[in-house]
Amino acid sequence: MAEFIILGAGMVGVGAALALQARGHAVTLLDRAAPGSETSHGNAGVIQTEAVEPYAIPRDLATLAAYASGRSNDVLWHFGATLRMAPALARYFHNSAPARHRAIGQSYARLVGRATADHAPLIAASGSEALIRRTGLGELYRDARGFEAAARHAARMAADYGLPSQLISGAGLAAAEPALRPGAVHGMVHWTESWSCADPGALTRAYADLFAARGGRVLRGEALSLRQGATGWQVDGTEGVIEGSDVVIALGPWSPDLLARLGYRLPMIWKRGYHGQYETRMSVQRPYLDAANGYVMSSMARGLRITTGAELTGRQAPQNLRQLTRARRAAGELIEIGAPVADGVWHGHRPCLPGMVPMVGAVPGARGLWLNTGHGHQGFTLGPTTGHLLAEIVEGRADALTEASAVRLGRR
Ligand SMILES: Cc1cc2nc3c(=O)[nH]c(=O)nc-3n(C[C@H](O)[C@H](O)[C@H](O)COP(=O)(O)OP(=O)(O)OC[C@H]3O[C@@H](n4cnc5c(N)ncnc54)[C@H](O)[C@@H]3O)c2cc1C
Repeated sequence: MAEFIILGAGMVGVGAALALQARGHAVTLLDRAAPGSETSHGNAGVIQTEAVEPYAIPRDLATLAAYASGRSNDVLWHFGATLRMAPALARYFHNSAPARHRAIGQSYARLVGRATADHAPLIAASGSEALIRRTGLGELYRDARGFEAAARHAARMAADYGLPSQLISGAGLAAAEPALRPGAVHGMVHWTESWSCADPGALTRAYADLFAARGGRVLRGEALSLRQGATGWQVDGTEGVIEGSDVVIALGPWSPDLLARLGYRLPMIWKRGYHGQYETRMSVQRPYLDAANGYVMSSMARGLRITTGAELTGRQAPQNLRQLTRARRAAGELIEIGAPVADGVWHGHRPCLPGMVPMVGAVPGARGLWLNTGHGHQGFTLGPTTGHLLAEIVEGRADALTEASAVRLGRR
C-alpha cells in the first residue's frame, strides 16, 4: 500500500483522502488552513443531482449579447482577465456546442448520478444528518415563456437521463414554498432528488474529522514546497517535513500554481462567485435558482445565503458587489429579506476546465503524482465521487469515464 499526501483539504481533497484510506492506504491530508475554509465553505451547498450536464456557455446570440452588454446578471466580465483566459474560454465555448456538450454530459451524468450515494455513508458516519435537507432544488421562473422553456428542458432531462422533476405553478406554489410572495413567481421546476447542506464548510470539516477518527493525519503546511526526495515526495508541514510515496494535488482554484512550479500548464477558467447572508423571518424549504437573475438562495446556518453567478476577473482583483447587489434586490421581490448578517460577504473561484469534466488521474511523466481538480460548478457535489474514482484509477481501473477525466497537461 502507498503513503499518500493529499494537498488541499476542500471537499475534493477530503473526499479523496477518505476514499484512499478506505482502500487501505496511509493518507495525510495537508492544507495551509483548516479543512473546508475556502471554496468548499462559500458555495451554495447544493448536492446537485440535477446537474447531469456541466454548465455550458450559451451559444444563442441574444444571451451572448446580454452577457456582453452586462444586462445579464449571470456573468460579469472584465476585459483584461477575459483576455488572459481567452484560449481556455475558446475551448470551453467549443465544448459547449450541443453535440459535444451532450457527449461530455454522458460522462458527467455518470459522476453526478453517484453523488448522493457517495455522500450518504459519509453524512451518516460523520454524524452530519442535521446539516442535510433532502427537499430538492427549485428553479423559479417569473413568466410563462421562461417556465415553458424550462419545462421542455426538464422533459429532455427525464428522457435522456431519467432525471425526475415536478412542474409547479399557480396555487401549488404557495403550498410548495410558503415563504414566496404571492404572485411573484409564475412557475417552478422542482428537481426532487437534489440535496442541500446548511453549512458546506462544516460538512467538509466533519468529513475531515471522520478521516482523522479513522486514523488519517490532518496537518497544516505549504503545498507549494512540494519537491521530489530520494524515494518519493516531500512537502513542508508546519511541524516538519512530510514524506510520501504518492501525492494528490487537490488544490481547487490553486492547482495550476503548484503544477506551474512542477513545469506543467493547466489552463483554468476561474469563475468568481460571491455570497451574501441575510436575516429572514421565514426559512425557505430548499435552495432556489432565480433563473432570470442568475443567483441561488438557500436558508443556511447563518441566515439566507445568496450566491451569485460568474465574474471573470483576476484572482487578486478587489470585490465587485454588482452581481450580489442585483441578486439581493431580485431575491427581495420573491421573499421577505432582513438585514445583512455581520461579515456575511464572501467570494471564491469556481475552478473550471475547458473540458468541463474534472481531471482525475496520474500526471503523465511524474511517478507517484496524481491530480484531482477542476470541479468547476459542482465540486461540493462531486468530492466524494471523484475521490472514489481516483482510488479506483490508482488500483488500475480504465474505462470510458477514466478516459474522459484523464489528466491532459501542457508543458511550460
Ligand atoms: C458562489 C459559488 C457557489 C457554488 N455552489 C455550489 C453548489 O451549490 N454545489 C456544488 O457542488 N458546487 C458549488 N460550487 C463549486 C464548489 O464550491 C467547488 O467546485 C468546490 O468547492 C471545489 O473544491 P476543492 O476542494 O477543489 O477546492 P477548495 O475547497 O478551494 O479547496 C482547496 C484547498 O486548497 C488549499 N490550498 C490552496 N493553496 C494552498 C497551498 N499553497 N498550500 C496549502 N494549501 C493550499 C486551500 O486552503 C483550500 O482548502 C460553488 C462555487 C461558488 C464559488
